[in-house]
Amino acid sequence: MYIKNSKIGIFKTVNAIIIGVAGFLALCNLIFAVIMLTLDEFSGEMVAIVLGVIFLVLMSAMTAIIIWRAIAIHRVTRCRIYNSIFEEDHDGVIEFSSISAMTGFSEAAVIRDLMWLTKAQYIHNVTLTRTAVVINVLPGENTFVTVACPTCGAHITIRTNGGGRCEHCGTFMRLRENQNV
Ligand SMILES: [Zn+2]
Repeated sequence: MYIKNSKIGIFKTVNAIIIGVAGFLALCNLIFAVIMLTLDEFSGEMVAIVLGVIFLVLMSAMTAIIIWRAIAIHRVTRCRIYNSIFEEDHDGVIEFSSISAMTGFSEAAVIRDLMWLTKAQYIHNVTLTRTAVVINVLPGENTFVTVACPTCGAHITIRTNGGGRCEHCGTFMRLRENQNV
């Protein structure tokens, strides 16, 4: 795993808190609006202005949350894609151009993503050079095992604690304990 799970965990927690707070605020606003509408001492004009302001605040908050979530999901998705590629690697070095070819992202986008993701420590145990990603193969992960493809049964060789793609059907698999053939 080259994804730092603790980092992704924090991300999920923050995500849950934001959604919770936003939901709570929306509920408070709604209750407040209902109270205003039912009390007689507020004039119609005043109610309209307050409701208008509440609506604008809610819309802005919702827009901000939607954008934040889109960015968050995008980031986690990219992390997973790069992690699969790193786990699949056999010799410890992957050129940015190969990652670009595998993902369909431009080479500049791959470099930009990886620089940011490693700096922010979403991805760890890799080192970036000018042209490639050097995978820090941990002790115990530089051996290879043969596993059977869960889809078609073909035998493929993957790194211990790594992953691999079946040459026959393209299924990506990750080695789990006791899955050796
Ligand atoms: Zn297969």
